[in-house]
Amino acid sequence: MTAQRAAIASVLDEARGHVSAEAVHTAARRDGARLSLATVYNTLTALVAMGELREVHPGRGPVLFDFNAHPHHHLVCDACGRLVDVDPSLAHCVPLPDGAAPGFEMHGVDVVFHGRCRACARR
Ligand SMILES: [Zn+2]
Ligand SMILES: [Zn+2]
Repeated sequence: MTAQRAAIASVLDEARGHVSAEAVHTAARRDGARLSLATVYNTLTALVAMGELREVHPGRGPVLFDFNAHPHHHLVCDACGRLVDVDPSLAHCVPLPDGAAPGFEMHGVDVVFHGRCRACARR
């Protein structure tokens, strides 16, 4: 593990949520690490490939990296961009029935529910 990777890992460990590459970069630099945004992005992408992190595409804003690599869904507020986890056991999610994707080997499901968070709904 390189020093750069260690710096990124410590930022992720602190964040324990959904963070953009830019946010990880800013936090790592603040901690004194010398690394480029490209290095942060490449390291995060490698961690996704290794199954250590998940990549979340909220539909607006940057791609987020998720500390929780276990299967779960997301709820995004379309007004402020807040993103929270949804326990997949609580979300009604129908997987594709057999035969819906012939010849396609599926590895998982990635669902983003859209709505408004409580703070935005009150406004
Ligand atoms: Zn909101
Ligand atoms: Zn998540």
